[in-house]
Amino acid sequence: MKVAQLGSGTPEIAVVAGVHGDEPCGVRAVERLLDERPTVERPVKLVVVNEKALERQVRFVDEDLNRAFPGNPDAQTHEGQLAHQLVEELEGCLTFSMHSTQSHAEPFAIVNGVSETAQTIIPQLPVAAMVETSDFAEGRLFTEVRTLEVECGLQGSETAAQNADRLTRAFLTAVGALPGDTMHRDLPVYRLTDVIRKDDADTYEVFVDNFTEVTPGDPFAAADGKKQVAKESFYPVLMSSNGYRDVFGYAAEKLEVLTTPTAAD
Ligand SMILES: [Zn+2]
Repeated sequence: MKVAQLGSGTPEIAVVAGVHGDEPCGVRAVERLLDERPTVERPVKLVVVNEKALERQVRFVDEDLNRAFPGNPDAQTHEGQLAHQLVEELEGCLTFSMHSTQSHAEPFAIVNGVSETAQTIIPQLPVAAMVETSDFAEGRLFTEVRTLEVECGLQGSETAAQNADRLTRAFLTAVGALPGDTMHRDLPVYRLTDVIRKDDADTYEVFVDNFTEVTPGDPFAAADGKKQVAKESFYPVLMSSNGYRDVFGYAAEKLEVLTTPTAAD
């Protein structure tokens, strides 16, 4: 794990990259900050987490780090130990953690509960949606550390790396570490309600777009040509044919649209 800092003093803000070793976008954003060393108005901790997995360009070495929190110093797995170290390192920090997916090119945020912090900061980021995952949070970083996660785009793409850079700068501006103003945008909020499982098969297909409503009777995915049909309407989130080993993704409900408060508020 690599830990660095911008500015002096004890940081209350952290930017985290490389929780998953096959998602290099966030690492590029952190490296760029380390190269440019912008003057910050409050100290920022920078962490590149799973260096071993990043070197091997794999999601993890022994187990998925973002399902391994809180971890344990005596864990039998690399990620079990790493989870514990990361929690200690991030104590007291509001953390911004970057990911990328095989399912959606446009950036969106993932939060464990629509907290006041999330409602304040996320609408200032260049994201298209906020996804609330509290029913599926077990083992994830944000169960242990106050964390806002962002999905920066498609894994390994140049666009995801550029998005990671823009998202990081917007986050650091929103929390007052970098000078300047952010743009506020209206933001739809979704809550994950179900896992969409997939059976063991040779080929998988997904017929729907993420964040676009699927209505009852619509076929939304298939395993070896066998279609799954929606019984109820839902919004697909993180759906992809081959992104995860045993699930297609998640079903979500749309909660609300966070609107930008007017100046009078
Ligand atoms: Zn990830």
